Amino acid sequence: MFKKILIANRGEIALRIQRACRELGVKSVVVYSEADRDAKYVRLADEAVCIGPAASAQSYLNMPAIISTAEVTDAEAIHPGYGFLSENADFAERVERSGFTFIGPTSASIRLMGDKVSAKQTMIKAGVPCVPGSEGALPEDPKEIIKAGRAVGYPVIIKASGGGGGRGMRVVHTEAALIHAVQTTRAEAGAAFGNPAVYMEKFLENPRHIEIQVLADEHKNAVWLGERDCSMQRRHQKILEEAPAPGIARRVIERIGERCAAACKKMGYRGAGTFEFLYENGEFFFIEMNTRVQVEHPVTEMVTGIDIVQMQIRIAAGEKLPFTQRNIQMRGHAIECRVNAEDPYKFTPSPGRITMWHPPGGPGVRVDSHAYTNYFVPPNYDSMIGKIIVHGDTREQALARMRIALSETVVEGILTNIALHRELMVDAKFIEGGTSIHYLEGWLTQHKR
Ligand code: ADP
Repeated sequence: MFKKILIANRGEIALRIQRACRELGVKSVVVYSEADRDAKYVRLADEAVCIGPAASAQSYLNMPAIISTAEVTDAEAIHPGYGFLSENADFAERVERSGFTFIGPTSASIRLMGDKVSAKQTMIKAGVPCVPGSEGALPEDPKEIIKAGRAVGYPVIIKASGGGGGRGMRVVHTEAALIHAVQTTRAEAGAAFGNPAVYMEKFLENPRHIEIQVLADEHKNAVWLGERDCSMQRRHQKILEEAPAPGIARRVIERIGERCAAACKKMGYRGAGTFEFLYENGEFFFIEMNTRVQVEHPVTEMVTGIDIVQMQIRIAAGEKLPFTQRNIQMRGHAIECRVNAEDPYKFTPSPGRITMWHPPGGPGVRVDSHAYTNYFVPPNYDSMIGKIIVHGDTREQALARMRIALSETVVEGILTNIALHRELMVDAKFIEGGTSIHYLEGWLTQHKR
């Protein structure tokens, strides 16, 4: 096992990784920007090094600063968390070339999955079902694009091959709008992701977002840890997640889970990963793979009892998976609400000083957050300030526990989306389970204020 790990991230996930290190008896080095100087996890770390000003480009995305910090602090491995450099293949390569272990897959795997066109092609070869669409990236010739549109059938969605974070997508309903949409998405993708390639998929009208968590080691073992339902989204961004997915038969999930684990073995994948699917009319369609830990990993931890972040570290240290598929049991039901510093209905960010932070507690309640009373939420980063996760024997119990947890939570001084979560937890359709990825947007239009 490593003696010391550098955490190349911030906020709740930096704290989460720090906790995993502690349990494993590993020392942690935290890097931070000037805006995060007063964060509690920075003070709690074994070592903390300021690597630059608030702007991410000069701090959390600053590869030379991060790698030289690992050098001067004698860290052996670097955990990238999620976001920032976590899916940057060049970073993974530079980390390894500098003699450190990157806690994640090989740079080759990250590169393959980071390009959505090559990811889909890999999945098709590995027998994982994909959304029907163009074969690879769309060509330049408008006639060929029109032809592809007719073959796929409207509506279609144009997606940037290098896209992420819900950006770089455009839905097209008619042939007349197609060429313009392709050109606009290409231009945006070139500017935002440095890769103008776009591809086309059938736009599924009413799917759910279901994803499969996997773990794979360097010794050709791979398992899947059940599924998560992340259909509650706004602008393609998840706001709450649950495990298992309500109303889908176990054998249907098992079939896709086994395919994902088999694909990991075939690709020689290492580490934690997520296969994201759209699920419609009983069928799964792969959309992309995330080669890192995800925000919503706790719901899987709650139902499987497996610490995913610790497993990432143990796999990176060369250990074998300590369990086989047969040992993995899903118990009960878990729900996660993302707490964002934002207006609950207008969604404008609400950074600033938290004058009162009172997190919930009680049986089956977990709070992953770096916030505290008097913490200043900097305006420079993602607005998520924490996650409330509950576990119960049944979905009903989990829902009841989440309602209680949300009612206990007090955050003053800034606006948060807790009010929205409170309303969703008593929404008849959500309680029924199985709402589609478009449900929340529709709900928000109906509940306009
Ligand atoms: P990103 O990497 O930006 O998260 P994804 O490919 O994972 O992009 O898609 C994000 C979300 O966009 C999905 O969860 C879903 O809501 C929507 N989406 C993507 N592809 C399709 C599709 N073919 N049909 C309908 N919705 C889609």
